Amino acid sequence: MADDPAPSPKRERPDPKQVDRRARFQIPPNRPPKQDPAVRVGNWDEVSFLFDPEVAKVEANRCIQCPAAPCTKACPVHNDIPSALWLLEQGNFNGAADVFRETSELPEMCGRLCPQERLCEGHCVVGKNALPVAIGKLETFVTEWQRAHGGPPASAPVVSTGRRVAVVGTGPAGIAVAERLARLGHAVVMYEAWPEPGGVLRYGIPDFKQNKPAVDRKFADLRALGIEVVTGVRVGVQISWSTVCAGVDAVFLGIGASEGSLLGITGEDAEGVITATEFLVRSNLPPEQLPESLRAPLGSPRRVVVVGGGDTSMDCVRSARRLGAAEVTLIYRRTEAEMQGRIEERKHATEEGVRFEYLAAPVEVLCDADGRVRGLRCQRMELGEADDTGRRRPRAIPGSEFDIDADLLVTAIGYNVEPEWGQILPDLVRDRWNRFVADPETMQTNLPAVFAGGDAVNGADLVVTALADGHRAAAAIDRYLRELGPVRSPVAPSDARGQRFIGDSSLLG
Ligand SMILES: Cc1cc2nc3c(=O)[nH]c(=O)nc-3n(C[C@H](O)[C@H](O)[C@H](O)COP(=O)(O)OP(=O)(O)OC[C@H]3O[C@@H](n4cnc5c(N)ncnc54)[C@H](O)[C@@H]3O)c2cc1C
Repeated sequence: MADDPAPSPKRERPDPKQVDRRARFQIPPNRPPKQDPAVRVGNWDEVSFLFDPEVAKVEANRCIQCPAAPCTKACPVHNDIPSALWLLEQGNFNGAADVFRETSELPEMCGRLCPQERLCEGHCVVGKNALPVAIGKLETFVTEWQRAHGGPPASAPVVSTGRRVAVVGTGPAGIAVAERLARLGHAVVMYEAWPEPGGVLRYGIPDFKQNKPAVDRKFADLRALGIEVVTGVRVGVQISWSTVCAGVDAVFLGIGASEGSLLGITGEDAEGVITATEFLVRSNLPPEQLPESLRAPLGSPRRVVVVGGGDTSMDCVRSARRLGAAEVTLIYRRTEAEMQGRIEERKHATEEGVRFEYLAAPVEVLCDADGRVRGLRCQRMELGEADDTGRRRPRAIPGSEFDIDADLLVTAIGYNVEPEWGQILPDLVRDRWNRFVADPETMQTNLPAVFAGGDAVNGADLVVTALADGHRAAAAIDRYLRELGPVRSPVAPSDARGQRFIGDSSLLG
């Protein structure tokens, strides 16, 4: 095991002139090993193993310490990657982990989940002529190493400001806001509809991409900071908006985008047609972490068809293989070039035996006499002109229908913000897709004490962009709270502060 000479944090960058770039360019790239595809389809363990410490140091040594650090600029939370890798290559793993933790509440997860090929690694100068530095895998290695060797440093005690904030949603956006505000001395209470906290990190992303204990550890950290986490309560259903607002000075809405889009075709309501979220949570989570309505086992589907082209659809096809399905087919209406999910995940799916039907769109769910799905009728597509996203628009080829047998059909064609918020908070301005409208710099909504971020504002996006929104929101909420002036009596939630805001509907809605 490598030594870790300097306790954290130790921020040092070499003088770039002292870095022998030519020698560093000669170092062959290293990647941690992966489970063999034939083995991994039989388990739910993570596909990638962690870097060996000595190999990680060699890989970090490939970083040429560019002064401009395009990797840092391309990272939505601006991780100081060259500093972290400089510490890492010297064996100062704690110092390196601390550098990642300065700008990210979830570095273990971002290292596993970010689409690095279009963020940090996509801008790595070394990557212009060779494989880029394995920034994501190094980030995961070093932060997991720290977890296994004493954990992140304990946070310094903070003086309470007497202010209190409610955070609705415990996904990455809510985590970032809650942690930053707690570290600034504000009391934070988080509300979560699912029985356990974590948002999509727990109720979506499968174990083979990222293990659940990592989520548990994060919430242990947050609770240790004094954050109250209330689970199994859906705001607007089990708890009213006015109850959430009672006694708090501001609210952050990090409710994500969990309403699965519909195919809009005949037979979609047949038995055996389910949404990606239902499929993923029923296949990935123990029943006790699910509400009663989702506890029935999925059984052992033999032929699974998944419709969609993003990260979610890739998680579904790969979960289907692990459930034992012999034939798993992904239907996507454009070509691979237009797919939005990670290249690495597509490669994994292909290795695991998933069949891809590109340029194909569903037209009808085929059912048996009992109303159960037995297949999917599709039609061939071709690409026309580019649409407003810049991607070429698919159009149907007449007379090109074909059928695929299926005993389970999973729809993974996109997520929207739940429309219920129109009733819960009618004064909150939303766009035509129900997304909350917030100032991009402050994440403040039209209701001055209500802030929002993550997928609820951007639509389905990324863990790291939700964190970045959380950072902007936390800074703005802190300013907002300080501008309120001193708290008259820093006491219990149901004090006069709460009354003041509950009474002023223009602030909290
Ligand atoms: C299957 C899947 C795979 C993905 N894979 C990747 C990946 O590999 N890499 C990547 O970067 N991104 C990935 N994403 C996207 C990423 O997970 C999201 O962009 C990110 O989680 C958004 O964070 P968030 O905090 O805005 O919302 P979420 O993570 O969705 O969290 C919102 C939380 O709010 C809760 N909530 C909603 N309404 C209420 C209410 N009324 N009361 C109380 N609680 C409420 C929800 O239950 C949820 O737990 C994936 C998404 C999915 C669905």
